[in-house]
Amino acid sequence: MWVRRRKRAIDEADWAAVLERLPILDPLDDGERRRLRGLAARFVAGKSIEPVQGQRVDAVDAAVIAAQACLPILALGLDAYRSWRTIVVYPAGFVSREHEVDEAGVEHEWEEERSGESWLGGPVVLSFEDVGASGCGDGYNVVIHEVAHKLDMLDGEANGRPPLHPGMDAAAWSRDFTAAFEDLNRRIEAGETPAIDEYAAEEPGEFFAVASECFFETPDVLEAAYPSVYGHLRAFYRQDPLARLERLRRVQSAEAPRRLPGS
Ligand SMILES: [Zn+2]
Repeated sequence: MWVRRRKRAIDEADWAAVLERLPILDPLDDGERRRLRGLAARFVAGKSIEPVQGQRVDAVDAAVIAAQACLPILALGLDAYRSWRTIVVYPAGFVSREHEVDEAGVEHEWEEERSGESWLGGPVVLSFEDVGASGCGDGYNVVIHEVAHKLDMLDGEANGRPPLHPGMDAAAWSRDFTAAFEDLNRRIEAGETPAIDEYAAEEPGEFFAVASECFFETPDVLEAAYPSVYGHLRAFYRQDPLARLERLRRVQSAEAPRRLPGS
């Protein structure tokens, strides 16, 4: 019997389109790109990307989502995403019903527009419009934000501290992230323009997710604002995007055309 093998690779042309759409991948070296491409292909084959409300997701779109989802686990492996399978893709921001019981026991319900969501024990939800705005190297990345929540939730809750690797100092992590979170809140209250998206000041889980976006999008900004947070994320993700970015900048400045005398 002939069994049709499920396609597990990303075509050369599709991968070229992914690299074109995601400038944050420019600093990766050849080995890292190969590894990312392999992970992204396995991600597409193993997860279920489910567009809704008339949205369409073609092979390049799926690979663009997968490549960004896999960048944080480049050194950790796909097993880090074992606890979930589905990515729901809305055309744009979507409305999410929220509810909360206040201290007096009164239940409040309201609607909030979201660009992404990660459900505990459920899917990742993304706005396709926001996927399109991600990966440019400006600090915003809805895919990385949501998968960071998924990594955080591996120990049961999105509290801003994912399960750490052996040898990592959990007390130092909590101390440094708390200090950075409080510093960000203080600066916002004082009317300063924060170095990272002020959504990070909402709660520690959001701080971790936003810091993760910056770690891969604008590592220089994060390192300058919160160097200890950068250091913990480098140890957690087992990657050094700032070193990669600086290497790329050195190469680019060496290749820059020299000004001819008299011109
Ligand atoms: Zn979030």
